[in-house]
Amino acid sequence: MPAEMDSPLQHELTVAREAARRAARLCLAVVAEGFGRMEKSEREPVTVADFGSQAVILDAIATAFPGDAVIAEEGSADLVAAGPDLTDRVVAEVSRAFGETRDEAAVLAAIDHRGTPGRRTWAVDPIDGTKGFLRGDQFAIAIGLLVDGVPAAGVLACPRFELSGMPGVLVWGGPGIGAFVESLAGGGKARPLTVSGVTDPARARLLGSVETAHGDPELLQHVMEAVGIGGGWVRIDSQAKYAAVAAGMAEIYVRPRNRVDWRERVWDHASGAAIVAAAGARITDLDGKALDFTAGPTLEHNRGVLVTNGAIHDVVLAALAGRG
Ligand code: AMP
Ligand code: MG
Repeated sequence: MPAEMDSPLQHELTVAREAARRAARLCLAVVAEGFGRMEKSEREPVTVADFGSQAVILDAIATAFPGDAVIAEEGSADLVAAGPDLTDRVVAEVSRAFGETRDEAAVLAAIDHRGTPGRRTWAVDPIDGTKGFLRGDQFAIAIGLLVDGVPAAGVLACPRFELSGMPGVLVWGGPGIGAFVESLAGGGKARPLTVSGVTDPARARLLGSVETAHGDPELLQHVMEAVGIGGGWVRIDSQAKYAAVAAGMAEIYVRPRNRVDWRERVWDHASGAAIVAAAGARITDLDGKALDFTAGPTLEHNRGVLVTNGAIHDVVLAALAGRG
């Protein structure tokens, strides 16, 4: 049954779901019309859709919760540096998404909205898995809410992720709320999600990134062999991996670093962490430490991330000990 009326953060989840739906429509419109690809620092790709999605989401947060803080992946400086044509396209996409004209100043201000530091911080990744988005593979629009540094609620729009016969889904929830999936297109009831009950490693399935540069395939291979994982190794882009664990489609998501100075980004995990915890998952770093979301935009004090259905967590941690 969907969250009770008296369960916490209902208004927040309603606002975030609506924003994620609007952002997803914008992203798919950009796919149809051409990506408007750009490159930002470290040669990471970014598109018109990344900026448009962030403007749509942060506009909604700034309007509904003006006192909250925001951590978000994109900044308007990269868009402005890409030139007036791409900026105009983002403004046009955002205007269309809202069904009313927004001027450039309003759109750039929305992209850069960061609110006021306090107990509540929204963590927003307007397109997680941009490389997957460009390839026609998985991507996610991630909106998480940290309360006192703890993932309290999350929404993931996964427009290309099929679950329960729905071709694109909205996955959402949080501790004390539950985890749910509903059709991204709307209509139909939200259905509860629970992690897999598989306890035998021989039947367990492992999730990793598609991009080898975002992980450590050798370490994943070692985990597969040391733990005796027999269900296979599935590569999926983006926080759709969290949706897969929450839905019981895989038991283990290991996120190693591909270089020792890499720190995980808060916006890559806050939303997914709230949802999988509500679905019954266990989540730590690769050393078994709790994730610390209080250190700014990165998980400065953690080494990678490990999400499991709980049953298999300790044996995977043992295989990871001293490695990666
Ligand atoms: P995935 O979809 O699993 O490939 O993860 C996408 C995320 O990987 C992006 O949102 C980036 O924040 C993150 N990322 C970028 N560079 C690295 C890196 N060197 N190691 C780990 N993650 C990275
Ligand atoms: Mg990301």
